[in-house]
Amino acid sequence: MVTSQISLQTPLNEVKGIGPKFCEKLQKLKIEKVKDLLWHFPFRYEDFSNIVAIKDLKVNERATIQGIIQSIKLRRTWKKKMFIVEALVSDKSGSIRAIWFNQKFLITMLKKNSLVNLAGKVSQSSDGGLMMSHPVHEILTYKKDAEDLRHTGRVVPIYPETKGITSKGIRFLIKPIIDQLEKLEDFLPSEILKKHRILEINEAVKLVHFPEKIEDAIAAKQRFAFEDLFFLNLVNLRQKIKLLKEKAFSSEFELDSVKKMLENLPFELTHSQKKSLWEILQDIKKPHPMNRLLQGDVGSGKTIVAILGAMVLANDGKQSAFMAPTEILARQHYETFKKFFKNFDRGVGLITGSMAKVFYGDGLESDLKKGDLVKKAGNNEIKIIFGTHALIQKNIKFSDLALVIIDEQHRFGVRQRAELLKKTGKEILMPHLLSMSATPIPRTLTLTMFGDLDLSIIDELPKNRKEIITKIVDSKNRDNAYAFIRGQVKKGRQAFVICPRIEPANEDEEFILENKRSWFNMWDNAKMVKEEYENLSQKIFPDFRIGMLHGKMKPKEKNEAMKKFKNREIDILVSTSVVEVGVDISNANVMIIEDADKFGLAQLYQFRGRVGRGEHQSFCLLFTQSFSKTTNLRLKSLVEAKSGFELAEKDLEIRGPGEFLGDSLGWAQTGAPDLAMKAIRNPELVKSSREAAESVLKIDPELKNYPALKSRLENFQQDVHLE
Ligand code: ADP
Ligand code: MG
Repeated sequence: MVTSQISLQTPLNEVKGIGPKFCEKLQKLKIEKVKDLLWHFPFRYEDFSNIVAIKDLKVNERATIQGIIQSIKLRRTWKKKMFIVEALVSDKSGSIRAIWFNQKFLITMLKKNSLVNLAGKVSQSSDGGLMMSHPVHEILTYKKDAEDLRHTGRVVPIYPETKGITSKGIRFLIKPIIDQLEKLEDFLPSEILKKHRILEINEAVKLVHFPEKIEDAIAAKQRFAFEDLFFLNLVNLRQKIKLLKEKAFSSEFELDSVKKMLENLPFELTHSQKKSLWEILQDIKKPHPMNRLLQGDVGSGKTIVAILGAMVLANDGKQSAFMAPTEILARQHYETFKKFFKNFDRGVGLITGSMAKVFYGDGLESDLKKGDLVKKAGNNEIKIIFGTHALIQKNIKFSDLALVIIDEQHRFGVRQRAELLKKTGKEILMPHLLSMSATPIPRTLTLTMFGDLDLSIIDELPKNRKEIITKIVDSKNRDNAYAFIRGQVKKGRQAFVICPRIEPANEDEEFILENKRSWFNMWDNAKMVKEEYENLSQKIFPDFRIGMLHGKMKPKEKNEAMKKFKNREIDILVSTSVVEVGVDISNANVMIIEDADKFGLAQLYQFRGRVGRGEHQSFCLLFTQSFSKTTNLRLKSLVEAKSGFELAEKDLEIRGPGEFLGDSLGWAQTGAPDLAMKAIRNPELVKSSREAAESVLKIDPELKNYPALKSRLENFQQDVHLE
């Protein structure tokens, strides 16, 4: 029945049978070409494949019946003024009533005596008999055989729908297109398909829309998920190979000098800190750039490990740049450095949007103009510079940059990281790159999403830490919670109160920026920092010193608030999520999170990590006004989780990777395709896709023998902006 061949690139308005009106609607979904439509996958399927004899139907069963329309009429309910189409359908075994609301047009479509399939859920009618309400119908004619069924009598695809485009409409379009589609060339090598039992593309396209069995649909979806994961792995592995060809400064440090530095620290490094440092030093020895991710729970002590790496290079006369996502953090790292290396006299700098400082050993610290700091960096008069985004300003050039450290790496885009890497000052050398993240990402995810990075993991906390006692508090117990805080503050402790918003809706763009979310309807009655500040300082704790911190404050004001808190001039700090990352205040031992359900688990985990850093027993109180099951499940897992990694696995389980990455990493930056994100929950697929990518690159790193694969890969890279 082939009339004309359709290709993936054929515009839909050239396909016979698609009217201009429908094309317009599709365009709104960005579906313009055949390819777009075919890759608009069903998100679930209804199994209507069992055609059941009417007398065998059971209540609540989903089934298809096949019968003759005995009668059909249009009624109107006089109360609600609704149209009801009611039909009586019978097969050899019996008959059943079917009704449709507000689908007046059916009366002209479903004619008496015609043969139809009806598919849907069987329910009990008020008179005790069975009925089908709102079944999907399909009229059978002599021309139509079983092969041709689209909506009934088979496994039926359900598509993401929008106004005016129904699943039925899409099925109606796709069926003939698939029948006339030219044969597609599969860009996945056939040996890989065979080895990993992956469906070939023509088969997959057909079965994803019109599977015979549910298993077919699963296999088809797996094919596309495998494809995405395979490409992600290819991109990452190729990136890795590329870096091996680049040159970097290789340090010939003396182990003794490292040991001496360690001896001078006020504490002993934990075992995993030592191991991570060792891995970093091994990388720095090599003549090509390190590309390593240092992962560790909040408070696990990543900073000192990174700083030691920078110190080793400083001993070689090389420079390091340490970039943090906020001014508060950049400053804290700089202060930490000064504390541990009081006598360091080769120049340490700090640059943020509002200030520049330089330190040449105890007593030798000065504020300077940014321009002067830039000059010093260009003359190698400063070995280590801490800073914010200010570090990637155009006019900063280092004279001999050998290491770039990026704290909370997910806060920075790929481009920003690349910017900093360009500032080396040496033509042929690339700096080593150490990224750090406290976001505990499950290992499977890391391997796929960040497969171009080598991993170091700090999976223990320094010995002096106590477990943080975490409790979910409902509104009834709020007063008790306040009494508890009062007691702690009286003992000299400090508390954080985190609120999801700054001020009432609409004006609150800052909130969206801070949380990287756009859905803010559900936030309408969420606690607001400003309001809570008033409430706490005037009503609840008028005798305590209350401070406020949020993203709309000027950097200077933010620093001031943070400094006061650090210096114990503030007892309770009311804040938005700006306080989220890395801030270290060891006297604070109570963390209250208002509307805890409004935050992602990973984020909550990070908040909680702000306390429990000192010698005092710490507490985290999760306030919530929500009683949903998911909320409960999520908050409970925070209470129970032993480590961030364990929690991450849970979060992934409860919400799926899309959501998980969405709020902890900034979805846009991961850029991973949707299917791949879902597939990451399938460890088998993750493993096989990686093996497949490795095996292809091993024999053919340039993909010379796989032109189709290579060009697809290039498209893929553009799509996901991984480079
Ligand atoms: P994070 O991994 O969250 O960035 P930090 O590097 O900020 O953690 O470290 C948290 C605190 O723990 C800092 O005050 C740091 O000085 C301290 N610290 C780091 N390593 C150790 C250790 N081995 N023993 C004791 N305290 C440590
Ligand atoms: Mg940190």
